[in-house]
Amino acid sequence: MNDNRNTDNHHTDDSELASPQRYERRDVYHEATTERLAAHTRDILSLIGEDPEREGLLKTPERVAKAQQFLTHGYQLDPEAILRSALFEEDYAQMIVVKDIEVYSMCEHHMLPFFGKAHVAYIPNGRIVGLSKIPRVVDVFARRLQVQERLTIQIRDAVERVLQPQGVAVVIEAQHLCMMMRGAEKQNSLTTTSAMSGEFLNNIHTRAEFMRHVGR
Ligand SMILES: [Zn+2]
Repeated sequence: MNDNRNTDNHHTDDSELASPQRYERRDVYHEATTERLAAHTRDILSLIGEDPEREGLLKTPERVAKAQQFLTHGYQLDPEAILRSALFEEDYAQMIVVKDIEVYSMCEHHMLPFFGKAHVAYIPNGRIVGLSKIPRVVDVFARRLQVQERLTIQIRDAVERVLQPQGVAVVIEAQHLCMMMRGAEKQNSLTTTSAMSGEFLNNIHTRAEFMRHVGR
């Protein structure tokens, strides 16, 4: 059932999926996984009272199968390898802040999206990392089933382990569709989580400087 006229340009490559050490993302769909996810999605459509055979839904199971693989592709990627791929020795010892990183993840309780912004800071201790790698690490952890609290800690710990800096700080602000769409109480609530280490924990001025940077 391959349709190469698809507008999205997807390839299947089993060897890539077999390796958890990749740090370059490609749009990879496992054909057998796609077929099984599509079959389950057809069942779900029937179970919620839809007709999977009606025209508008005919290709939906395959689209959902590919979307789900894309939204969880972080399992295939190694965030610490991403950081290690761009390390530089440098004497710079001031706070480095990467803020307003877009986060799109899915809560593990409902498999519904949560999304918002992440702010990451660290104080180097002899080495720095290419700035584009920080958002990539956020994305790798976000593209898995998550809770916001664990996502925050995993980002901090990956930066901590690879860079061994004087401190790391991560703040995530996100809205959860599982709260917003089900029930009317918390439609506009923003959930904020933070995880810190080293100087950000020990030095109130350092922490305050970071909070000023991210506007909190
Ligand atoms: Zn949820």
